[in-house]
Amino acid sequence: MKKLFALAAIAAAAFGVHAQDFPGGKPITIVVPFAAGGPTDRVARDLAEALRKPLDGVSIVVDNTAGAGSTIGNAKVARAKNDGYTLLLTHVGMATTPVLYRKLPYNYETDFEYLGLINDVPMTLVGKPQLEAKNFKELRDWISKSGGKVNLGNAGVGSASHLCGLLFQSELKVEMTTVPYKGTAPAMADLLGGQIDLLCDQTTNTTSQIEAKKVKPYAVTTLKRLSTPALKDIPTLDESGMKNFQVTIWHGLYAPKGTPAPILKKINDALKVALKDPDFIKKEEGLGAVVVNDKRMEPAEHKKFVQAEVARFGPVIKAAGIYAD
Ligand code: ASP
Repeated sequence: MKKLFALAAIAAAAFGVHAQDFPGGKPITIVVPFAAGGPTDRVARDLAEALRKPLDGVSIVVDNTAGAGSTIGNAKVARAKNDGYTLLLTHVGMATTPVLYRKLPYNYETDFEYLGLINDVPMTLVGKPQLEAKNFKELRDWISKSGGKVNLGNAGVGSASHLCGLLFQSELKVEMTTVPYKGTAPAMADLLGGQIDLLCDQTTNTTSQIEAKKVKPYAVTTLKRLSTPALKDIPTLDESGMKNFQVTIWHGLYAPKGTPAPILKKINDALKVALKDPDFIKKEEGLGAVVVNDKRMEPAEHKKFVQAEVARFGPVIKAAGIYAD
């Protein structure tokens, strides 16, 4: 028995030194559960840059493990070694997938360490360039007459675009044909090419296309109009007749459960520095996103917030009666 304790103490001491030295020059991987070039990927790459300095200049690699509305990438991190070198950056899917999927290969409450929230991002309803509808009213009329033939892209069941589309269809009381992608970067490519008709996506993916007039912007999903120059003239869904329609997406950072506390602290401290980084803030604001500057930077508050989001979206999703296996 004594021997066992001694061994445990040596192991703990060895681990403690390691945790103290983290990251010690070893690259960190941030898993993004959506395709490269999309909004979640974009936040991850910008954040990786901002995290580098407070993490002693270490390399941070983004790994796009996309598919099944983020659940494949989330599961990968839930099962990854809990040494701080594999992290997950994902969005509202952390709160919608537990409600939408009958079976999930992870538990959002017990399989992850919460590291802090990163940003809040509004969404925009955008259409392919060929659409004739000049405004939301005309779009709504066109959708109503389409008999379910309108193609609405999304990033899979549980994604932000899926959630927005779900709420949108239930408000309009119409069904559309949904087309799932591994992320909204490929969905946007198809929208630009006219293969799909509509996409509801984060401003971090749509702002530059709206600015370049490559897509038709119909509405924003916030209650107030946005202040970002390229987006400020787009009406809200609320003012377009969908009273109280509001969807804002957030992104957060996670580690596998059981990652040592000193490592979690070091990453959370670095995240707080990154969230104050003027370059990171400028990039995010230019794309309509708001960098978190409140108590949700704290792991416990981040977790409470996600739990509240599960409670908020649960009834809405259940009412829509949509589940995935
Ligand atoms: N914006 C996507 C979504 O709809 C995900 C992504 O590609 O970042 O959830």
